[in-house]
Amino acid sequence: MKNSHCYTRCLLTLLIVLVSFPAFSQQKPNITILATGGTIAGAAGSGAQSGYTSGQVTIDAMINAVPDVLNLADISGEQISNVGSQDMSFDIMLKLAHRIEELASNQEADGVVITHGTDTMEETAYFLNLVVKADIPVVLVGSMRPSTAISADGPLNLYNAVAVAADPNARGLGVLLVMNDWIHSAQTLTKVSTTAVQTFMSPLRGLIGTTAYGVNDFYRTPDQRFGKSSEFSVSGVTELPRVDIIYGSADMSADLITAAVELGAKGIVVAGVGNGNMNKASLEACAEASKKGVVVVRSTRVATGTVGRNVETDDDALGLIASYNLNPQKSRVLLSVALLEQRGLDEMQRIFVEY
Ligand code: ASP
Repeated sequence: MKNSHCYTRCLLTLLIVLVSFPAFSQQKPNITILATGGTIAGAAGSGAQSGYTSGQVTIDAMINAVPDVLNLADISGEQISNVGSQDMSFDIMLKLAHRIEELASNQEADGVVITHGTDTMEETAYFLNLVVKADIPVVLVGSMRPSTAISADGPLNLYNAVAVAADPNARGLGVLLVMNDWIHSAQTLTKVSTTAVQTFMSPLRGLIGTTAYGVNDFYRTPDQRFGKSSEFSVSGVTELPRVDIIYGSADMSADLITAAVELGAKGIVVAGVGNGNMNKASLEACAEASKKGVVVVRSTRVATGTVGRNVETDDDALGLIASYNLNPQKSRVLLSVALLEQRGLDEMQRIFVEY
């Protein structure tokens, strides 16, 4: 009697184990594609023309163009927006963040792919990396050539993105971006070419991995804070504070810094020269802004390298923050999110070191 009890229990356990592993049960992961627009959904009059319009093709048409993705996962698509990412807004980013949390908590998706224009993809990716707590893979993907172009890069990119989102090894790596066979962390990637297909690079820390026709190879885990280990949340948030970016140059005018303060900016990021430097007049305007409670971050217009604290600028005396790893556009995202709560300058500087 005892033995038959144990036998039934063992059989039941084995069954539960088998159905919970897709490989045994033949169950495919559920991947939701959230479409926002971009060149990947762009269309032109002919295959060889350079002019085109972003955000013309619907998510259903994009999935139909890559029927092979259905071998990787059960796919469902949702159209969140259909814009060129030059029109991406915090409003759409918040919609994405809230929808991903919902999909994960309702266990509707094992992974999420976001189709997005490449122009501001790094901002959306980094924003989601900071605020999404769900630990399902979230993968952004785009293309440099519109869907109608000769050798359009969108279909293979989409296929690879689904393969990464469906891969259990992609869990816990934060928000990722897949383009042209490379897997980047949201924290490190940046767009480096206006036209080249290999437009995304991760200059300081390198790739998270590679993917080739859906076969993924992961090299490393991100070392900055993100997702569950992030202190930021946008639960219930509908709007972000205004943060302006001011571009530095030789003989730059300080007026735009003062104007940003007058126009109500709560934060300013200066894309400084070199190690986040700027001329004396601009430093004075930044110090004035800081005295008025506006948080001023020194980032750099230089493509790679970090901006350190108190190197050529006396940040302590002037009340400024150094951006460390973050370029101006990512500094703006981090500052906007950090400004959702009242924080002192020391706290702000810690945040720029840790994220
Ligand atoms: N302007 C386009 C966009 O960001 C460029 C692209 O997607 O590659 O939507």
